Amino acid sequence: MTNHSADLNADWHYPTSIRNGAGRIKELPDACKSLSIQAPLLVTDPGLAALPMIKQALKHCRDSGLHCNLFCNIQGDPTGQNVEDGITAYKAGNHDGVIAIGGGSSLDTGKAIALMAGQTRPLWDFEDIGDNWTRADPAAIVPTIAIPTTAGTGSEVGRASVITDEANLVKRIIFHPNMLPSIVILDAELTVDLPPQITAATGMDALSHCLEAYCAPSYHPMADGIALEGMRLVKENLPLAYVNGQDLEARSQMLVASSMGATAFQKGLGGMHAIAHTLGALYGAHHGLLNAILMPYVLKANQAAIEPRIERLSRYLDLPTRGFDGFMDWVLEMRNTLGIPHSLADIAIDDRQAVRVGKMAAADPSAGGNPIVFSAERYSEVFRDAVKGEINQ
Ligand SMILES: [Zn+2]
Repeated sequence: MTNHSADLNADWHYPTSIRNGAGRIKELPDACKSLSIQAPLLVTDPGLAALPMIKQALKHCRDSGLHCNLFCNIQGDPTGQNVEDGITAYKAGNHDGVIAIGGGSSLDTGKAIALMAGQTRPLWDFEDIGDNWTRADPAAIVPTIAIPTTAGTGSEVGRASVITDEANLVKRIIFHPNMLPSIVILDAELTVDLPPQITAATGMDALSHCLEAYCAPSYHPMADGIALEGMRLVKENLPLAYVNGQDLEARSQMLVASSMGATAFQKGLGGMHAIAHTLGALYGAHHGLLNAILMPYVLKANQAAIEPRIERLSRYLDLPTRGFDGFMDWVLEMRNTLGIPHSLADIAIDDRQAVRVGKMAAADPSAGGNPIVFSAERYSEVFRDAVKGEINQ
């Protein structure tokens, strides 16, 4: 195992308390105690629950005198029922806090359970529309400790969860500012066994969060700064983590980049995510892979609005060719290096539903952050380009 990662150990308190460093999952009992959690419910997915990583985390907590139970009855795209079952387990075990360990699904479910544990209203009342979140009793939201095992979604520093409303077959965003986990542990050792394809797809999701946030037109210089450095970390480290999953330093930097992406996208996302959310719902394809494929087509469609920003970005990334074309070349080269397919046709998505895709993408909440307001027809065109593999303006 390549290990120069000890120098990366650090504690940050922005945007929440973050303990960064390989092996720091062993501080989990201490993290619980610092939040006065005596009886945490550990939320993870069934695949992870079978691994030594989770068994050790449980053992650590129990050996430290914590009354800790496991809840792992969650799907890849967690449902309202998964959250309900989690709340039932939470109440049955008399818990007083949540530990969420895993990819985006586990973290989102854990955060939703922590939100809902003490509320009287149903989950969908807190969908991220208008000021719905003010309906929640903030004093009844219990503390969460979040520990990501993939570097991409950044859900550990997010204030929302994506939960599928199975009765209406739609994904809903559940939001409350206090859903931000109280403590995050970024432990690169938990990510070293991720296969290269997942490393690539999730890492490109982190890049797309930084890139879309950076290009979103609203005024948020703090988010812009975080997005810029996040993209540099991805550029330097994703190819290394892809080639050698055991490279702890590259893995650690990617975990940080992932948290930075989700911190930055409080500013907004854009067309990549608007189309990726749509295709995820219609075809069930991997979210990060979709963003990775869509990236050059959406960039090209936005070129007129983002050229000066991308020129600055190309200088910060120290690309061999500056400007929009140089950045586009880098994106294409990065995708190639990571074995990302060039077109949606390569992952068996055709354009038969192009009209529907256009309408859904234009209505997606992420569309609001796109540098140019695209019509449904324009989204259909960009989608068709991505199916065919033609990068058109
Ligand atoms: Zn994403």
